[in-house]
This record gives sequence, structure tokens and C-alpha cells, in this order.
Amino acid sequence: MPVLGRDVTVPLVTGGEVTYAALDYAASAPALQRVWDDVAAYAPYYGSVHRGAGYLSQLSTDLFENSRTTVAEFLDCRAGDQVVFTRSTTDSLNLLAAALPADCQVFVFETEHHASLLPWRDARVTYLNAPRTPAEAVGTLERALADRTASAQDVHGPALVCVTGASNVTGELWPVKELAAAAHAHGARIVLDAAQLAPHHPVSVQELDVDWVAFSGHKLYAPFGSGVLAGRSDWLQEAEPYLAGGGASRKVARRTDGGVDVDWHTTAARHEAGSPNVIGVYSIASACKALTEAGFDTLVAREQRLVATVRAGLAEVEQVKVLSLFGDDAPRVGVISFVVEGWNSSHFAAALSAEYGIGVRDGLFCAHPLVRTLLGSDSQDPGECGAPEAEPGEPSLNAIRVSFGAGT
Ligand code: PLP
Repeated sequence: MPVLGRDVTVPLVTGGEVTYAALDYAASAPALQRVWDDVAAYAPYYGSVHRGAGYLSQLSTDLFENSRTTVAEFLDCRAGDQVVFTRSTTDSLNLLAAALPADCQVFVFETEHHASLLPWRDARVTYLNAPRTPAEAVGTLERALADRTASAQDVHGPALVCVTGASNVTGELWPVKELAAAAHAHGARIVLDAAQLAPHHPVSVQELDVDWVAFSGHKLYAPFGSGVLAGRSDWLQEAEPYLAGGGASRKVARRTDGGVDVDWHTTAARHEAGSPNVIGVYSIASACKALTEAGFDTLVAREQRLVATVRAGLAEVEQVKVLSLFGDDAPRVGVISFVVEGWNSSHFAAALSAEYGIGVRDGLFCAHPLVRTLLGSDSQDPGECGAPEAEPGEPSLNAIRVSFGAGT
């Protein structure tokens, strides 16, 4: 099989360098050239955001605020939606979890990445079983929401559905629009985890009719430490600030009783206390522009050719089993996980790197319940390279993931 992927030459800490094919975009994707260029051009003029009268500060503030507009356009947000800059998808979803109204009930599939699965544990959470088709996913959600509205005590309470757009394990696309329609039909809101979708597909808040979208810069070819939560402002602005500090507060005054009164911002700044990561934010805006200019039609067509090539190559190897929740024909992005019969996946991934110059990921990919379901196994320690090799015929304990995208 020809090696697909971005060849990179990496200096080794032990000296020397190695050139290999990097195929782990789903974990972190390399910066697009345009992103490097934009960041390098700005870096000498780095300055504080919203905290200075000088030109460096003015430039940095403009780039930071203009980046909000770029991201809102990239996501096709509604008028009035807010774009909050965070550290990552994990941070964005934890922010939303901290902003849930009282008594909010959360619905989440057990198949989610841990970033979508775990932040809601302080709320009432209903974990939905792994569906085996997109239609089953919609049906499962509809039934769970209908059960909720059938119960008089919950009928008026707020509810939130959290769902991924594209699986970080199978690459399969989830029926987001249909799930959003089901959520709204039952008076619930929905947040889309677009960490794996946004780098591969256009994401339109209006077209999908989702209430919030979260994604990470480092998976969108902008690896400088920022993320996004975009969507409806009401829950965010009614909540306590995610972090308390400068930038989130409009006015702070001592009270006569000795305490402190704080008037918090009611803009995105409410949840962005502290000096923001302007380079991270600017790099996200740069990536959004680069992807839009390249055109998703072109990018998707190219990536789908790579997906077909990789899958065809894997299908030639009898011992390989590709992991899939929705079946072989399900639409998917450039994220493919598989196991090789008789092999410990960690050893296999290490051999791919050392002997063939191909960098992939091994493990359970922060989606333990999903991978265990797909493997039919009860693996204990997915990250452990010393895990025992599965005997032929026994289920693997973890999996191998190959992933790629724009710029591959
Ligand atoms: N959601 C999905 C689907 C992911 O694949 C990931 C990361 O792999 C995350 C959320 C978390 O992203 P981050 O680590 O950037 O917070």
C-alpha cells in the first residue's frame, strides 16, 4: 500500500532526525502553511488584548475581536450568537456544563468522546445506549426525550443533548440535523461536538439547527492552544463566569459591609477572564479562512479518495478488522480505526512507526465505552504498551487509528 500522509522530518531528542508519514490528525493536526505564515507575521507585534492604549495592544485587540467574526462566519452562526474563545473542545464543553440552568437534564450517547461524555456529571445525565444505525440514534434520543416530557415533573425543565458530529474512533458521521430536530421537538437544546467534524466538513449552525458548537484549534490545523464555544448567548450570560478575574468584570467596587460587588460582562468576555491567547485565537481564524478559501467541496472530495484508498488497502489484509458502529457504507471522515488479529495494537502501532515510518495512534482514544463496544472486549488499561498480546481468535484489547485531512 502506498504511504499516504504528510511526510515530516522530526528532530529526535537523542540526536539526528527521522522522516515519516504523520497519520494522526485526529489527535492533533499540523498547522496549515497559511496558519504558520499568519502567525509568524503577527508574532513580532504580539501585545495585550483589551489592556493597552499602544499600537501593539490595538493591533492585538483588533485581531482578537475580528477573529470572533471570522469564526462566526465559518460556523454560519445566527445573529446574536456568541463566540467564546476557550482552550479546547474539552474546555468549551466544561464551560457549557458550568453554565447549565438549574435542573437541566442532559442526554448523551455512551459512545461519545470523554470530552462530551464526562463534563455533565454534576447535572442529571441520561446515558443513551450505543445505536447501531444513524436512524437508531435518532429513535433512541426521541424515546428518551419523550419519556422525559411524559413525566409531569420534568415537562418544563431545561434539557440539553450533547452529540458528536464525526466519531474520533470510526470517523462516522452522526445524524446531527435529525438529532437537533428531535431535541427541539421535545423542548431540549443541543450542543455539537465538532472537534472531528469541523476539520473535514463545513459546519453550519443554522443549517444543522444546533444551539452550540464546540471545536479545538489544534485539530483544525491551528495548534496554538485555543478552542471555540459558539452559539446561543442566554444560558452563557445568565451563568456565573467560568473563570473569575480581569476581563470578565465590567465594574468592581468595595461594599460598605466590607465585601466586593462585581458587575460581570454580558458579552463573550464574561467567560474569557484573564489575558487571552491571542495567537491561538488568531491562528483559528486563519485556519477558518484557509479552509473556506480552499473550498470544502474540493477538500471533502480529496479526503474521500484517501479514505477509499486506505480502506481498500486494509481490506486486502485478511487479519485486519476495521471498526464501525454504523456499518461499512456509513459516510465517514478521514479517521479509521482497526485491529489486526493476533496483534497487540500498541505493538503494531510501534512497529508501523519504527519499521515503516508511519505514525498512527493506538489505544481506546478517550472513548473507552465506544471502543470496548466495538472490540467486544473488557480492556482495562488501553494506554499500556505492555498489555498482553491477544491470542488469535481473542478480541484485541485496544485499537490502531489512522487519520488524515486537509494538507495531507
Ligand atoms: N471531541 C472529540 C470528538 C475529540 O476527538 C476530541 C479529541 O480527540 C475532543 C472532543 C477533545 O478535544 P480536546 O482534547 O482538544 O479538548
